[in-house]
Amino acid sequence: MKKRTTWLTIITLIFLSLFLVTMSLTANRYSRIFYENYVSELLFSENKNATSRFSNRLNIDYSHFLSTLESNTNEELNANLPYVFNHKYKGYGTIESDGFVYENGVKKLFKETYSNTFYDQSITLFSHNQLFSDETDEVMHIYFIKNNRFGYFDAKLYLKDSILEKKYVLTQPNGLVLFNGMTSEPMGNLNNYFKDTEAVTQELIAGDEGISKLNSVDAYYFASYSKVEAINGLYLLDITDYDDYMYYSGTVAVFSIIFIVIMEIVVILVGFVFSNFFTSFYRDLEVSIHDLSSNRIPIAKINHKGKLIYRNKTFKKTFDQHKHDKFITDIFDITTTELLKLVPVNAWFIRTIIDFSGARIIPIKTSMFSYTLLIYPFISDDNAQGEAPINAITELPNLNKYRYDLDELLGSDSTAVGKHSVAVLKIINLHYFNALKGIDFVDGLIKKIASRLKEVVISELDVSLYHSFNNAFVLLYKNVDVIDAKRDIKRILDYFDSEVSVLDYGIQVNLKAGIYAFNANVETSGALMIYEKARIACDSDSNGEFSSISVYDVVTDLRKKQQEQISKDLEMAIKRNEFELYYQAQYDYKTKKVAGFEGLLRWSNRKYDRTSPQEYIKVAEKSGAILKIGEFVIEEAIKTAKKLESFGVTISINISPSQIIQFGFVKKITDLLIKHDVDGSRICLEVTEDVAITTFSDVAYKLQSLRDLGVSIHIDDFGTGRSSLLYLKELPIDSVKIDRGFVMNLQEDRYSRAIIDMILSLAKNLEFDVIAEGVEDQFQFDYLTERGTRYLQGYMISKPVDYNGVLALLKNNGRIKFKKEDE
Ligand code: C2E
Ligand code: CA
Ligand code: CA
Repeated sequence: MKKRTTWLTIITLIFLSLFLVTMSLTANRYSRIFYENYVSELLFSENKNATSRFSNRLNIDYSHFLSTLESNTNEELNANLPYVFNHKYKGYGTIESDGFVYENGVKKLFKETYSNTFYDQSITLFSHNQLFSDETDEVMHIYFIKNNRFGYFDAKLYLKDSILEKKYVLTQPNGLVLFNGMTSEPMGNLNNYFKDTEAVTQELIAGDEGISKLNSVDAYYFASYSKVEAINGLYLLDITDYDDYMYYSGTVAVFSIIFIVIMEIVVILVGFVFSNFFTSFYRDLEVSIHDLSSNRIPIAKINHKGKLIYRNKTFKKTFDQHKHDKFITDIFDITTTELLKLVPVNAWFIRTIIDFSGARIIPIKTSMFSYTLLIYPFISDDNAQGEAPINAITELPNLNKYRYDLDELLGSDSTAVGKHSVAVLKIINLHYFNALKGIDFVDGLIKKIASRLKEVVISELDVSLYHSFNNAFVLLYKNVDVIDAKRDIKRILDYFDSEVSVLDYGIQVNLKAGIYAFNANVETSGALMIYEKARIACDSDSNGEFSSISVYDVVTDLRKKQQEQISKDLEMAIKRNEFELYYQAQYDYKTKKVAGFEGLLRWSNRKYDRTSPQEYIKVAEKSGAILKIGEFVIEEAIKTAKKLESFGVTISINISPSQIIQFGFVKKITDLLIKHDVDGSRICLEVTEDVAITTFSDVAYKLQSLRDLGVSIHIDDFGTGRSSLLYLKELPIDSVKIDRGFVMNLQEDRYSRAIIDMILSLAKNLEFDVIAEGVEDQFQFDYLTERGTRYLQGYMISKPVDYNGVLALLKNNGRIKFKKEDE
């Protein structure tokens, strides 16, 4: 998985580089275009101004010429014209019918071709060799003509007055050059010296002004041109070296650099946001990708309405008979609202599926608009194949048989209209044995318990026994009042409680029970729902360590109502900021100092401030409120870690399973660490071993990602989970916390001591730290420290305290005094 992230980074970098190169080229291009436009406009308006100056000059001079003509005889003209036009004046003459007579009396003959146009114009431009058959003079002259009289003037000087040092060309619309200011270039047609003058000459015909980019053999030029109003069919063309402006000005480079810098900042910002998003997205979706690619578990995606928008291969294969269903609610007996709480739930199939009765659904919000459902179907019976009615290990009838029997009972309308009860019996302390001795031992134990149950259950009542799941059995009482059923169950539990060596191992097992009583003629739930109600009753009992019997209707409904009330109050509490974090010190036996604190939630509300968070957190987990509460807890703890930075202590945060599996969990923590500038090594997360082991690869991956940030992972309530301790080494963890239950019973209960010993030796071998919680007295303290427990937490050291209490504990450099430790 690491590898994938590396690849992702490399690919992203390659794309980023390509993008930057493209951006630079684009920047260059666009700043060039931008600047080119700017230069063009500048040159164009310069050319227009020059042209109109040139044209005005001609018009003014022409009117002077006319007034001079009126007020002077031919003879006087020769004397006066040089004064009126000074150096521009070249000569004067009259036009006869067949030719042209100079002021000095020399007569010249017109060239045929020019005669007509020449006569038509009042101002025109020609060289003598263009006009006269025997002339060789190529110098361009402006001719002023009135009737049969004319004067001619130096064209170059006229232009110089108007345009100064520019390279200019006077041209006709057909591209014929009449005058060329670029002295080195020959006269003739524009085509002679530019590659693509076609465009310009086309424009000259079409319009009066414009600017084009011309390509000569070795360079580009800007060619701007305007019509000279004073002379018919004449254009002033202004030619500027492209490079003069575009390269040597350096402006393009400046523009490009500014553009590139801005674009790169944008790219980096966008890249940063996206990479952040993608890493977390990627991490969070690792499971989906992983599971999708290997297709191990059924996965579906739904939208907020519960509509199925995606199903993976396994889903299709497993739920083949549901392939035409459009909504998840068509498949499972669950509401969409319930799924959108994003809390793992058990749901039954609406239609019977051969191998499964229901599934554990873990909803995860995986994108803005979709929810991924990881579906872990549970098999009707762990050990049964298909519809087999017998549990393979205990050889008791299984849930299939139960379903069959109950369906028959409910279906037989005449015979059994009476009252019936279904009870679920659970072995409470099975995990102890699982932890201590492993699964094979537990299988043997269950077999023993089953055979004992078989003997004990027999009574005068009509009762059948089934083995539903690993640690759970079912009793079906037909035509028995619930009070009698309850009494009978009490008898069974007492039997197991009193007979310490009821099993040959000399082990005492504790059972608890939940009962659901119903009237066959009014009952609407199916067999599995009835089973589920009994199970809920069984689990609803809060003091989970003692044998107990809970009846669904009385207890559970009440509890359910209470929980609904708590659920409402929780919503308000979040809005009203009623939550607060208390801190309990974690003592380091090696340094004899406080090493850290565990954050514990407190609800400052008169109704609840004495309630253990355990109570309402259970409710919050079911209602989904835990996500908001958890967010508060995490941020609060991180803030505190920041405030306590100088003391070098860590802050532990309790994390609920539903928090970890949510989309963006790792990112949320990362963001908060950055926001409050807290080093990851200051933070520990406490998760339960069930979460870490039994959910899925994703959690392990997320935990590893957090460890990469320096965050430590502690396994909370260690030893109480369902797994064998040997799973430990598979987990990305730093410490285990020995559950308070073991510490509490340490003195009296040799199993607790055995488990503690085992945890300590395992931890030593696997090099984990151990934190013992619930240390209340010296005996426990000594027992634990003598066997190598380094960290201790409990009332003996300190109760959970508020922030000021924390400061008080840290006053003496974290060296605190408690009980007899120092004596
Ligand atoms: P936990 O994580 O096992 O927390 C330890 C509990 O044991 C705390 O109860 C603490 O006050 C109590 N305790 C510590 N030392 C002793 C001792 O020497 N003797 C006795 N009798 N009790 C001791 P608390 O604060 O009532 O919390 C109960 C549970 O609620 C916690 O069990 C934890 O599972 C949950 N919880 C508390 N705060 C949070 C939170 O912020 N987030 C989540 N998700 N769960 C929380
Ligand atoms: Ca804890
Ligand atoms: Ca704990």
